[in-house]
Amino acid sequence: MSCDYPDPALLIGGEWIRESGAYADIVNPATGDAVAGFPLASVQHLDAALSAAAEGFEHWRALLPVQRGEIMHGAADRLRRRCEAIATILTIEQGKPLDEAKGEILSAAAILDWSAEEGRRGYGRVIPGIVDGVHHFTLHAPVGPVAAFTPWNFPALTPARKIGAALAAGCSIVLKPSEETPGTAIEIARAFQDAGLPRGVLNLVFGDPSEISEHLIASPVIRKVTFTGSTAVGRRLMELSGRHLKPSTMELGGHAPVIVCEDADPDAIVEPLAAGKFRNAGQVCIAPTRFFVHSSISARFVQRFAAKAESLVLGDGLDPASTMGPLANQRRIEAVEGLVADLVDRGATINAGGRRAGNTGFFYRPTVVTDVDPAARIMAEEPFGPVVPILSFDDEEEAIAQANALDYGLAAYAFTGSARRSLDLAHRIRAGMVGINSLAVSHPETPFGGVGDSGHGQEGGIEGVRSYLDSKLVAQG
Ligand code: NAD
Repeated sequence: MSCDYPDPALLIGGEWIRESGAYADIVNPATGDAVAGFPLASVQHLDAALSAAAEGFEHWRALLPVQRGEIMHGAADRLRRRCEAIATILTIEQGKPLDEAKGEILSAAAILDWSAEEGRRGYGRVIPGIVDGVHHFTLHAPVGPVAAFTPWNFPALTPARKIGAALAAGCSIVLKPSEETPGTAIEIARAFQDAGLPRGVLNLVFGDPSEISEHLIASPVIRKVTFTGSTAVGRRLMELSGRHLKPSTMELGGHAPVIVCEDADPDAIVEPLAAGKFRNAGQVCIAPTRFFVHSSISARFVQRFAAKAESLVLGDGLDPASTMGPLANQRRIEAVEGLVADLVDRGATINAGGRRAGNTGFFYRPTVVTDVDPAARIMAEEPFGPVVPILSFDDEEEAIAQANALDYGLAAYAFTGSARRSLDLAHRIRAGMVGINSLAVSHPETPFGGVGDSGHGQEGGIEGVRSYLDSKLVAQG
């Protein structure tokens, strides 16, 4: 057991519950060792969480948006004050370097603050006269208790996006964070409790993911489903939501293309691209993942990218010297090894990395690959790891066609010195978010979401809070 890691518990109706019939281990990916055991929710626990969410919703929706906002700002303040301690928990359970974990906690706090204010702007609209003597207008009402499911790659950010928008809109929530990273979500819930959140408004359950999602989504208490994770699981949860006629927001996988045009400056862009690529060891749904570089500058681009990859310091995220942590679990190691073996079998050249680092924990070296067969698995499967496949092109039309070739459509990036090309690429690349000469596509104020196999609906921005509100027409004679 680590002394920096909390004693994990379910949160149901304002009570922390440690007693359970079954427990599972939380593993530190830097060492492969178990750091704590956490209780698994039973069906009785889930039913209790549903009742609590139904009751919590009635209290919460009755508050004024500004009152809800005060509690949410209070939680955000506590996250900032406790940033160092919560970031340590996040790094222990997930692996990313402590500085990245701190940045994530601060971003989670910023999301809560922004959502709290946006909750005050749930404006309806007045529709000018249609029928003599009748006034038509729209109101917004919170959709109701929400079932939310979040993954392990951003244990603070993904819960904050869902909790922030749902609570701002006046909804209650039952959150199932990843069983691999429950400690950070527990600390977020603690911050809310300490800020005075009424009982039952935020409930946390962990356990068997499919048992929990099936039980929660089928319940008449739940009025909305929100999920962040793989396309495969998203498809399953959408089927369940459809069967029970629940609206859903699905933030699924991505495979972001990067088009580097001949008029881009490789010396200037490799640094931000490498930072975006190797952040969280590449386990980021909007990470740049398929690189198409104009042949006139590709040699320079590859050389700089490989040098940058070799310069990263792999190590335990708690060590201040580490600039990249381990992959989050053994599944990722196996998946990345499989993708790189496939590349090598098809004749690719490894310019940096290409193998695990050590036998302790789940470390994989930052890897840069050229001479990539366009039919290689990595060009179609989300890598979710620190591997950079670089292909070169001569014809921009061909690069755009390749960028749009997959069913994924989350983030996409393009780099060019031309204003005309910038606009053209922004219009023609099929994605929910397009970064032109920038990777800054995720902020509290901006809508975040994908198209196609990357899901539907948006979090963040006014769209995020709006997705937890029903619109109601009133015709008053
Ligand atoms: P996964 O989809 O199996 O798990 C992601 C999250 O979904 C986890 O928290 C898991 O507990 C939960 N989950 C799994 N089955 C569920 C179910 N039936 N009901 C409710 N929740 C369920 O992904 P994984 O094996 O951890 O990773 C595989 C791939 O998923 C990755 O390679 C990556 O491509 C993708 N992924 C994407 C994101 C993202 O942010 N879009 C996050 C994590 C993983």
